[in-house]
Amino acid sequence: MEPKLIAGNWKMHGTLAECIALASALREKARNQTERGCEFVVFPPTHLLVPVGHVIAGTGIGLGGQDCHVARFGPYTGNVSAAMLRDVGCRYVIVGHSERRGPHGETDGQVRSKAQAGIREGITPIVCVGETTEDYAAGRATSVISRQLIASVPDTAMPERIAVAYEPIWAIGASSSATIDHIGNIHSAIRSTLGGIFGRDKALAIRILYGGAVGPESAPRILQTVDVDGVLVGRASLNAAHFLSLGAPSN
Ligand code: PEP
Repeated sequence: MEPKLIAGNWKMHGTLAECIALASALREKARNQTERGCEFVVFPPTHLLVPVGHVIAGTGIGLGGQDCHVARFGPYTGNVSAAMLRDVGCRYVIVGHSERRGPHGETDGQVRSKAQAGIREGITPIVCVGETTEDYAAGRATSVISRQLIASVPDTAMPERIAVAYEPIWAIGASSSATIDHIGNIHSAIRSTLGGIFGRDKALAIRILYGGAVGPESAPRILQTVDVDGVLVGRASLNAAHFLSLGAPSN
């Protein structure tokens, strides 16, 4: 069985000094944490991937990009490609985060192309899906997510080289995560939609992460929920001790 994936999205947080301090704290704490049943990956701001990567080298903590362009290289001002991410040591790339689907107007088709760009470069895309507050209130979460999955997960991908993150938009940045029942129901619906795309057995190899207000207290129960293969965290990744404690078993 694959280890649980604990992915920390630093978003647009931190100066150079602050990100180096966070990476150094991760390095220090990771040194004392020999028993780790989880795979930890951090997603720093793009321009700080190299210095952060140097600090965490050798700790077992991986590096990922927060987004990528669909092309390999070219005249795309302000963008970064999956090839560039791989070149600086990234093993993962987040695609289709709601902070890109919403404000940047990214469509399912674009998210799918970005995921394909990651796969082409040997980087595992984490394809984000999730319903809005309105969809949730109207009981449309399952159908919205199923539509997003069918349109944004490349069906030619090798299942073990792709991950999906379920992030209800109403839980991102909120004071508490979705309930365990809700997470369990949606993750099982996601597994069955992926089964429709890849076949049941292959779909079991796709890691499905939950994201939305996960912290050290909520993580253990969420990670024990059936069909939850990891978590994608924002705020909790900005504190090294909190982040590395997310993989700890519950008492
Ligand atoms: C996120 O932005 O993907 C996220 C889950 O953020 P937070 O953990 O802060 O809710």
